[in-house]
Formats: sequence, structure tokens, C-alpha cells
Amino acid sequence: AKAAGRHTFMRYTESMDSNSRRRAGLVASLRRAIERDELRLAYQPQLSLADGRIRCVEALLRWHSSEHGEVPPAQFIPLAEESGMIVAIGEWVLREACNTLSDWQRQGLDDISIAVNVSATQLLHSDLPRTVERILRETGVDPGQLELELTESVLMAKADLAAERLQFFRRIGVSIAVDDFGTGYSSLAYLRRLPITTLKIDKAFIDDLGRPGDTEDAAITTTVIAMARSLGLNVVAEGVETAEQLAFLRQHRCDVVQGYWLSPPLQARQCLEFVHGWPEREGS
Ligand code: C2E
Ligand code: CA
Ligand code: CA
Ligand code: CA
Repeated sequence: AKAAGRHTFMRYTESMDSNSRRRAGLVASLRRAIERDELRLAYQPQLSLADGRIRCVEALLRWHSSEHGEVPPAQFIPLAEESGMIVAIGEWVLREACNTLSDWQRQGLDDISIAVNVSATQLLHSDLPRTVERILRETGVDPGQLELELTESVLMAKADLAAERLQFFRRIGVSIAVDDFGTGYSSLAYLRRLPITTLKIDKAFIDDLGRPGDTEDAAITTTVIAMARSLGLNVVAEGVETAEQLAFLRQHRCDVVQGYWLSPPLQARQCLEFVHGWPEREGS
């Protein structure tokens, strides 16, 4: 038993080593990703159920590393956060997203917004207000067409600083969405004091909607929708994959849906074509 225990222990440390080697390798490659032009954005459209129009797309970061292949954001975003690289990467994301939007506008897509994910470090430990102002000015994007997505935990961590920054963004007309809503511990009373415009219901609550026997997720979802409505917030359901989920959300008057049912994240050009080709009066 003892030998087996030691063996297990060694396997464990060996795998720790190879894990941390991989992390170190990823971090080193990530440092060069911008200059090597390995980052791209994918764009996922969101459908407004009231009028059946696509009014917003979310920008999602993609990294095709020459050394590691396609690395999912769930793997490299945390590393970028820990190493501080997220500030430079986040600025690249904002500029790229705004450039794409202004490009789309030149091609006739005039009333669409772009949602950009913002990490804790970016909001709390960089001069995000000035960066955003500068990028809006450089790209000519109207602040009303930019939405920043933040998770609950970010907003809870340093509440005062977060609130102050959010107020700045609201003053200049930038929208604020709370991402992955429902997974954290933020109380509604707390959120109410923040100048947010949108709640995005986490995919975990959407997954089982419309399935027989699901009552808990359905209850949470309808509660969040009702709550958002009473606070005058826009509510988005993310990860909507099936017609059953869509029917449930429509019935309970969710404002916006996003997910594979509508479209996966697309390259900029494909997304432009998707939105251009979207039927004028599909929904409601
Ligand atoms: P998120 O912001 O919650 O983004 C939604 C994720 O769900 C995306 O994964 C998207 O591709 C995926 N998704 C969308 N619809 C569906 C669906 O119907 N079914 C399923 N199974 N998945 C769906 P992705 O692109 O891998 O991004 C993962 C996370 O990485 C994001 O979660 C976000 O937290 C983070 N992230 C992505 N881009 C950025 C960025 O530019 N900056 C920062 N700070 N974080 C980012
Ligand atoms: Ca998001
Ligand atoms: Ca989310
Ligand atoms: Ca669930």
C-alpha cells in the first residue's frame, strides 16, 4: 500500500511539473502573440426577440499559436490575467472590435453594437477609461455602440473602484453588461447600486430549459427576467442551443438570445454577411 501511495504521489508531482511547463510555454508564446499577429476576434450575433433584429454582436478572442495550435480562451485568458498581459491583449481586443464595427458601418451596417469582454485586471488595474476613450476617438465608433461585459465577481471584488469606473462609462454613453449572471454571489440590492444596463443569464441556467422535469433552472431564469424588467435592465440569455429553450425564453419575455441556435461565433466577414442576410421581420 505504501509503495502504491508513493507511486501515486510521484505521478502527481510529475503531472504538476508537466502542467507548469505547459503553462510557462503558453505564457512565453502569449507574450509574442500580438506582434506575431496570432490573435483574432470571432463575432457572435445576438437576436432581439421583440423585433427579430440583430442589434449586437459579442466579440470573442481567438488565439492561434504557431507553437501550441488553437488555444481556447478558457486556457489562456487566466494566464494573461495572472501575468498582467491581459492589459495589452485587452487593449488589442477593444481596438480590433471597434475597427471591425467601423468597417461594418462603412459597409452599410449602421445600427449595430459590439459587446467586448473586460477582465478584472483591465477594469481595476489599468487606465481603462482613458484607453476606451482613445480607441473610440481613433476608430470613430459612437460610445452608444459599445458594451463592456464584466462578471459579477469583478464588480464585487473592489466595489467602490468598480462603481466609479462604471459611472464614467455610463456618463460617456458606453453600456455595461453583467456576464455569467447567477453564478456569483452578488445580491440584487448590491447590483442595483451599479449603473449597469444589461444582465446576461449564464448558460448553465439555460441548458435544461424546456426539458421536462426542469423546474429549478426555469424558476431562476424567469425570476432573473422579471427582476431585470423591474429594474429596467436589458436581459440576454446566453448559450441558447435549441428551439425549446428559445420558446421558453420567448414566452417569458427575455429580451435577447445568443447561442448556437442563432449562430456560433463567426469571422468578421461571415458575421457581416449573416447580419446583412438576416430576415427583417423574423421574430415577435
Ligand atoms: P463568455 O464571455 O461567457 O462567452 C461565451 C462563451 O460561450 C464563448 O466561449 C462562446 O463561444 C460560447 N458559446 C456561445 N454560444 C454557445 C452555445 O450555444 N453553446 C455552447 N456550448 N457555447 C456557446 P469562448 O469563445 O471559448 O470564450 C470563453 C470565455 O473566455 C468567455 O466566456 C470569456 O469569459 C472569455 N473571453 C473570451 N474572449 C475574451 C476577451 O476578449 N477578453 C476577456 N477578458 N475574456 C474573454
Ligand atoms: Ca461574455
Ligand atoms: Ca457569459
Ligand atoms: Ca442547469
